[in-house]
Amino acid sequence: MRQPVFRFAPSPNGRLHLGHAYSALLNERLAKESGGRLLLRIEDIDRERCTAENVARAMEDLRWLEIAFEEPVLHQSSRMPDYRDAVVQLMELGLLYVCTCSRKTLADHAALHPEAARDPEGQPLYTGTCRRIAHPFSKESILRLDLQRALQVVGARTGSLAWSEKGGTRPADPSRWGDVIIARKGIGTSYHLAVVVDDAWQDVTDVVRGEDLLEATAIHRLLQVLLGLPEPRYHHHALIRHGSGRKLAKSKGDESLADLRAGGMTATEIRATLGFA
Ligand code: GLU
Repeated sequence: MRQPVFRFAPSPNGRLHLGHAYSALLNERLAKESGGRLLLRIEDIDRERCTAENVARAMEDLRWLEIAFEEPVLHQSSRMPDYRDAVVQLMELGLLYVCTCSRKTLADHAALHPEAARDPEGQPLYTGTCRRIAHPFSKESILRLDLQRALQVVGARTGSLAWSEKGGTRPADPSRWGDVIIARKGIGTSYHLAVVVDDAWQDVTDVVRGEDLLEATAIHRLLQVLLGLPEPRYHHHALIRHGSGRKLAKSKGDESLADLRAGGMTATEIRATLGFA
């Protein structure tokens, strides 16, 4: 068997919290147990939110936890030409279109149609307005995937779509996401596109991440087939939650790793708290 390759891929748009630490430490443990490599990828395509300061702080927190990631660390902000190539590949398949709908237009439409279908994250599915219009394309454009056409291409290539989850098989139903955004306004890529391009480029064999991304895997498998990329194994772990049951979030005032450190907690204690003693 090929040497497994694991990666921890945070988007540092604020301070890291215990949920990040858990995911990083689980990757570390599974890599160690399988004699695998352990990579760190900073998902900083959104430079407004993932500022240089946030990135530097995330690296500092991970160093403090003494997680031995391989060098060099990959920063997605350095990979824009590769994402552009993937966009071109999808365009050449006739699967992307320019969308000029503003957030406000879409929110107004959703308010008028509360019964309309929603994606697995509870967001209204895109109405499809721009699918029928050939808007001029620029580097700033929002690009959406024509999901029905994409499914036809995938159907012709592989038949049904599935992924390997913790050793079992899970069916993938990307249609639940509608015409997802592939390139965000002024960014040139999206999380979904960058993650599949980079998992392939870094030879990642095992994607270990929080279960909040379980449903998104259907889109990732779709993009992998469309772009001719290999299929990693997936392991979505339960999230470390706040006592009330919600996801941890810095915006909700949950303590960051830096707060815990400032309060006198050691890296060893963090590991022990999360079950990685
Ligand atoms: N960057 C993503 C996040 O922090 C995770 C990416 C992934 O593991 O696929 O939510």
